[in-house]
Parts: sequence; C-alpha cells; structure tokens
Amino acid sequence: MGRARFHFHGVLEDLLPAHQRGTWLVYDFRGAPSLKHALETFGVPHPEIGAPSDLHRPVRDGEDLHIFPRLSFAPPGGEWRFLLDCHLGRLAKYLRILGFDTLYEKHAPDDWLASTSHDQRRMLLTMDRGLLMRSLVEHGALVRSATPRLQLAETIHRFRLQPHFRPLRRCLRCNALLAPVPKSQVLHRIPPKTRLWCEEFLQCPSCAQVYWPGSHHDSMLQWVALLRQPSKSAPSPAPPEDC
Ligand SMILES: [Zn+2]
Repeated sequence: MGRARFHFHGVLEDLLPAHQRGTWLVYDFRGAPSLKHALETFGVPHPEIGAPSDLHRPVRDGEDLHIFPRLSFAPPGGEWRFLLDCHLGRLAKYLRILGFDTLYEKHAPDDWLASTSHDQRRMLLTMDRGLLMRSLVEHGALVRSATPRLQLAETIHRFRLQPHFRPLRRCLRCNALLAPVPKSQVLHRIPPKTRLWCEEFLQCPSCAQVYWPGSHHDSMLQWVALLRQPSKSAPSPAPPEDC
C-alpha cells in the first residue's frame, strides 16, 4: 500500500469539488499506478496538465506533488485545427467564420473523436472529461463555459487565436475552403436582386453552397473586428443573426 498527496493549482481547481480545492488530497494506492491514472482519479484529464511528459511514470510512495495547469498550447500540427464534440455545434460554426479548420460531426461517437484527434493531430475541444481522459487523446482541452459566446471567448483566450483569424474563407456548413466561381456558373442560385450588383462569388467545393459579400458578410466582418479585442472572461460580442 502506498500513499501520495496531490495539490492542484490554478484552473485545475475548477475541476474539483469545492471541499477539495486549495488543500492537499490524499491518494492511497496499490501497485504502481501511473501519474495519469492518479490524476484522473480526481477527475482531472491528462491534457489539462502542465507537464504531460511526466504522465506515464509511476506514483511513488510518500511523495507530495504540486500539479499545475497547462497554460500555453501550441498547435499540434503547426496550424490551429480543431475537432469539436457533438455538444459544441455553435462554437464550431463560430470558429469556421474565423477561418479555422474545424471538424464537427453532430453524431460523432467518442471512439471516432479520440482516434481522429490523434490521427489528424487536431485539438479536441469537448465538455466531456471522460473523452479527454482516453490515452489516445494527446491534444485536447476541456471547454468549461456553458454558452456558445462564452465558449468562444474562452477558446480565443486560451489558445491566443486572435493573430490567426482569417475570416470568411471556409464553408460554414462543411468546413471546406471556398474557391472563386464565375458568376455565370452560379447565376441560377443567386437571388435576382443580388444578380444586379454582385460580381464576385465563392463556392464550396464540397457541398456547392454559394457565398457572396452581401450585408450579412459585412456584419460578420464587423463582428470579427470586435472579437480581435481581447477579452478574458466576458462573453464574445453577439454574432450577426443566423450565425
Ligand atoms: Zn460546404
């Protein structure tokens, strides 16, 4: 029988019940459980920890461990690419408006989310701690906020995304990069009034949705300009209607 103690710091305390915050927590164990296993016994998923290289070593009898949150994230494949669980559909749309490669499937099972995050080196955003605790998940983060606008503010702040905004270049339905298309090819899909004034069109190569710079486009750009102003905890500004 062994005994170690853990003290969780910073935002990791959010993940503990109130009576376990700000104090040493006792961990009794048999055999040689890994640090990852011990941390997750307290409900703290390993991707949230500040020193992930240490996670597979065994916990030693008698040790006291200070556990700090992961404060900085680097994009796993050199570019911010996300994968969102089925509860984060609105956040997925917001991230696509900002130009981020964001995979989202409404009915994606956990096995697929974990393996896709691993295989495609995508940052998995989820509200499900059990999913984040899977060994296959190397790059992931727990979304703590309950509403989409707070989730967006949290995500922008946590990953320092503002310098990487490249808005209105992706299909909001299916994430593909849009490509210019001649007006003549999409004339039948454009409202009559728009045909009179607009000459530039983009089309999704995957689902064929057509986009053009109408009034909704302008209000989305204004919204993105507001999002460029850093806000740590306030909800993001309200998006244009229908977003
Ligand atoms: Zn599309």
